[in-house]
Amino acid sequence: MSQYAVIGLGRFGITLALQLVKMGNDVIGIDSDRKVVENIANSLTHAVIADATDENALIELSLSYYDAVVVAIGENMQASLICVVHLKNIGIKNIWVKATTDEHHLILKSLGVTRIIHPEEEMGIRTARSLFYPMIREYMSLGHRQYVVEIPVFEKLAETSLGNLLIEVEGKVFGLLIKRQEKLYPCPHPEFVLEQGDMLILAGDRLSLAALEPRLV
Ligand code: ATP
Repeated sequence: MSQYAVIGLGRFGITLALQLVKMGNDVIGIDSDRKVVENIANSLTHAVIADATDENALIELSLSYYDAVVVAIGENMQASLICVVHLKNIGIKNIWVKATTDEHHLILKSLGVTRIIHPEEEMGIRTARSLFYPMIREYMSLGHRQYVVEIPVFEKLAETSLGNLLIEVEGKVFGLLIKRQEKLYPCPHPEFVLEQGDMLILAGDRLSLAALEPRLV
């Protein structure tokens, strides 16, 4: 279990904080709006009304004990940046910040935060990929156009061996894992016969993975 602080409880901040709680973490939510804090107070480990541009208020929250601090103040760029400067002065190492504009991103970059998040752009990219490759449920980019993808096995693929599925992309796409109900089968053999309902985890380059698409639907 880790401890996270989320500053700014708009749609993004609240969704993030609730998801972190759901994953079993301790989460403190901080917002200057009393109503926002009261509405979420029962769902988070702690919820505090505080102005994140006030360095003393941030010091009182002992944020250095948290594994990461996320600044999710969007519209008010000035408040977001002042908050980040205070967090840096306090000595917080792991700071993730939501950016809303290119200027915001540029200044955050020069301040040296751990990660700059662009939720709309990142979601847009994910949605476009899901539309383009509807059979791919989850994916992780490894860089250099290489991906790990999760593919559900539907009726069409049932009774097909893994080797048969990958025959045309041999050496380019690799079967990493098959999940069948509660059981995991790591590094499955080419003779492994797929069943409807299996979850297949593959790794490979984008074009070879895309070439598999017609076999999956
Ligand atoms: P979203 O798109 O996630 O809903 P947004 O980009 O519209 O958010 P805002 O609504 O500007 O972002 O800010 C998110 C939250 O941050 C709001 O609940 C707001 O009250 C809070 N907030 C703004 N300024 C401060 C501040 N100085 N200190 C603490 N919280 C703040």
